[in-house]
Amino acid sequence: GGQLGKMLCLAAANWDLDIFVMDTEGCAAQAYCKQFIAGDFRLYEDVMRFGLMVDVLTIEIEHVNTEALKALESLGKTVHPNPHSLALIKDKGLQKAFYFDNKIPTSKVFYFENKEKLKEKVFYPSVWKSRKGGYDGKGVAILNNPKDVEILPDEPCILEEMIDIEKEIAVLVCRNADGQIKAYPSVEMIFDPKANLLDYQICPALISDDVEQKAQNLAKELIKILNICGLLAVEMFLTKSGQLLVNEVAPRPHNSGHHTIEALETSQFEQHLRGILNLPLGSTAIRLPSVLLNLVGAEGYVGEMRVEGLEKALNTEGVHLHLYGKKITKPFRKMGHATILNKSAETALKNATFLKNNVKIISNE
Ligand code: ADP
Repeated sequence: GGQLGKMLCLAAANWDLDIFVMDTEGCAAQAYCKQFIAGDFRLYEDVMRFGLMVDVLTIEIEHVNTEALKALESLGKTVHPNPHSLALIKDKGLQKAFYFDNKIPTSKVFYFENKEKLKEKVFYPSVWKSRKGGYDGKGVAILNNPKDVEILPDEPCILEEMIDIEKEIAVLVCRNADGQIKAYPSVEMIFDPKANLLDYQICPALISDDVEQKAQNLAKELIKILNICGLLAVEMFLTKSGQLLVNEVAPRPHNSGHHTIEALETSQFEQHLRGILNLPLGSTAIRLPSVLLNLVGAEGYVGEMRVEGLEKALNTEGVHLHLYGKKITKPFRKMGHATILNKSAETALKNATFLKNNVKIISNE
């Protein structure tokens, strides 16, 4: 029922699909679905109760109770992504092991049951990741010295070698039950080091045709071996030495695909519906180059949200504004995004920078 769920409902409305949503009362998608069921998607009973009401189940967040999804599948419900792969993806340790087993290029990794064991073999610099529950950078920490280890939670974790990253790119790929697969062109991500959240995203990515082809092929291979229907977002690192490494995947609509709503022939949300309903997949051709700007809560503001600079944003050419409907803003909370289109990628980036400097999510207090 989050913003991805809301956008999925909007796409489903075009085809008059009966979308049911389960999440907590007041969530973003509540007003946009045919039927809203209040519940906790982490709980077995709630997911079962919900699943028995519908024909096809899908997710917009990984933390859904997988045991319930498995049970629903065995009762004959169609569940996409398949719960087995979902369980694997939810655990960063299992996900990494899967890449090694299937010879998918990825960074080296070490496994630890707890903090004590980690301390025995920790090295610097390295990247610590919680095995479960990580989201938007919260389960990730860069370790440069023992002090960084001290503040980590005590839980099962992995430690990755630090990759010398040239670029971070993402490829969205979709598959239907007939086996048709389509990849979207890569997007390039630029992060805000302070918030550890996406800053800008550019489509098409500024990479060579050869790297683009390799990235798309990797994504297609992954969705096939994971046997996933619907979308799979594949985040990759292009290393300074020109190697492509898979960082992680998400089997659902993804933030890295927001630009597809306006900038590509088929939005990721419509594509996901096509994928999970076993319909022919839509074109992934680019209509116009785009820059995606996340609108996150400005620092120093907590409270009822307000957009400062709204008129400036709407007066800027090619700007498509999306506000997610979250009432309360806090620093770095994802409140919306803007997709900025232009025939020239350079102008799109210029306009995006103007927006970044002039549009702020603040509060009234
Ligand atoms: P999350 O699930 O929170 O999005 P990620 O695994 O995507 O976590 O990591 C967040 C960010 O941390 C990445 O986008 C990247 O910038 C950095 N990062 C993650 N793993 C590594 C690594 N092995 N080497 C260097 N940087 C990394």
